[in-house]
Order: sequence, then structure tokens, then C-alpha cells
Amino acid sequence: MNRSIEAIKEAALRELASAGTPDAVKALSVRYLGRKGAVTRFLRNISALPAEERPRAGKEANAVKKALEATFADAEQRLAEGAGAADDAIDVSLPGRPATPGRRHPVTLISGEICDIFARLGFDIVEGPEVEKDYYNFEALNIPKNHPARDMQDTFYVSDDVVLRTHTSPIQIRTMEKQPPPVRIVAPGKVYRCDSDLTHTPMFHQVEGLLVDRNISFGDLKGILTAFVHQMFDDRTALRFRPSFFPFTEPSAEVDILCVMCRGEGCRVCSRTGWLEVLGSGMVHPAVFENVGYDTSEYTGFAFGMGVERIAMLKYGIDDLRKFFENDYRFLRQF
Ligand SMILES: [Zn+2]
Repeated sequence: MNRSIEAIKEAALRELASAGTPDAVKALSVRYLGRKGAVTRFLRNISALPAEERPRAGKEANAVKKALEATFADAEQRLAEGAGAADDAIDVSLPGRPATPGRRHPVTLISGEICDIFARLGFDIVEGPEVEKDYYNFEALNIPKNHPARDMQDTFYVSDDVVLRTHTSPIQIRTMEKQPPPVRIVAPGKVYRCDSDLTHTPMFHQVEGLLVDRNISFGDLKGILTAFVHQMFDDRTALRFRPSFFPFTEPSAEVDILCVMCRGEGCRVCSRTGWLEVLGSGMVHPAVFENVGYDTSEYTGFAFGMGVERIAMLKYGIDDLRKFFENDYRFLRQF
């Protein structure tokens, strides 16, 4: 009994202050409270004290034992929780989680590519409203109210004389109303038709073009469209003009290109014909020029239009139109 119980307690608390881990606290607890620990030995030696001192010494020693037990347990738990917290902390040495960068949609890419080609050929790029007056969408383009071509267009009507534009041709009228010839424009944008199946969506994209000047002939139309197709695909891609009908052009022609998949051999994409229909075109109908006040004895012009999704499908070898509008990132990230 060379140390008082108070001295033992102070020594224990001093050592505890420098114990940094739960294991260190556990070891300390064994050293003071274990079977051979200082507090235990003190308690065991109480019987050697004079009889009158024993009750007080026993009471004090038991109080110290209880206090140390509680203090050690607290310290051990606190350190263990601290270690857990350290596990959850941010480890700045780990590589970060990269943000996924966005990409341009294939339709946007192809629409831009089409416009770029025509821009290099001297065309301006013009845009117009998607909600359009019946006059600009139909009447001014030589499609009067009772014209059967309106059935072909399957129009979304907003009201009796306001529609969702069924083509970007209204931009041709709006441009010609604003300026005298010469005109050289392409008009990209969304168009709307009541149509939905494997090869049609109610909304799709078009690029249309218009060129008006003196002495413009069908030969100019063929030359411009040939230059376009050769740049869009490659210069082995032959073109074929087939007579057709559009109310706003006369004569009119559908333009086929040699199938880019099979090079004319015949495959599933071209329905074994070796040709793909990609463009509508023609010489601007005189009635359209009269609607915008152009002198038909002085000016002629041509117009053409194409579906952007159609070109993108051929360019990228995509077989389902709906893929463009499902927003599946696995599909979109490929472009
Ligand atoms: Zn083919």
C-alpha cells in the first residue's frame, strides 16, 4: 500500500489523456482495472489496513473503480466513433467522379452539316415560326383551301387559319415578301404532321432551299443538288430525277440517290431497288412568285426540301426512326 487510491486515479486519467485509439484505452483499462491492475491490487490489500481504516478505504477505492470503468468505457466508445467518422470522410486522394458531358443530337449534327454545305454554296440560313398562318403554310404556296394536297399533309390545326407548319416552305414566302431577288436561302427546322408509325413521327426536321435569280434553270437545280449529295455522302453517289408533283413547283421532281448501303445492288434499305428517295425539288411555280410580287417574266427559281432524319439514317446506318426521339443515352453517345 505505497500509493493512495487518489494517486492511482490521477495517474490513470493522465495516461488516458494520451491514449489515442480504442485499443490503447482497452490496454489502460486492463492495466488499472484488470485482475492484476493497480486498483484491483489496492482493493485486495485493504484487508492489511488497520480495522478502523478499512471501511473508508474500501468505499473510496470502489468509487474510484466505478468512475474509472465509466471513464474508460466512454473514452473507448468516443475513439471508436471517431475512427468510424474518419472512414466516411472525403478522401481527396481518390479519383473524382467525372460529370458526363453532353453531346449534340444526331439530328442537330446532320441539320448543321446540311446547312454548312449550302452555306459554302452561297446560301443564307433563315428560320421562321413553327406555329404558322394557314396563308404562309398553304395559300401562298399555291395550295388553296380545297386543294387535295392538303390531305397529303395531315395538318395539326391550332385554329381555322393557324397551323403547326407542315413544312419549312412558309419561310420561303416570308423571305421573298421581305426582299427583292436574288434570293439564296436554306431554311432548317421542325415540322409537324398527324402521322405516327415505323417511318413517320408527328414531329420531324426539314431543310428546304430556295434560289431565285435571273436565268435560273433546271440545270442549276441539278448542279446544286449534285454538289450537295456528293459532299453529304461521297462523289460516287449518283442522282436520279423522277417527275413528280408539288403544288408550289412546276416541273417537280423527286430526287433519288444511289443506295449508300448497297451501291445499287439492291438491299433491304432500298427495298431491292438500288435507289433511295431523299429529296423533293422543282422550279418555283409562277403562282408562288405572283403571291409575293416577283416579276415572273424576269425571274425564275428552284426549291428543294429534305427530311433531316432520313439523311441521318442513311449517313449513320440507323434503321429505326424512333431511336432519334427516345433519348436513350447509349444510342445518342455514339455520335
Ligand atoms: Zn440498297
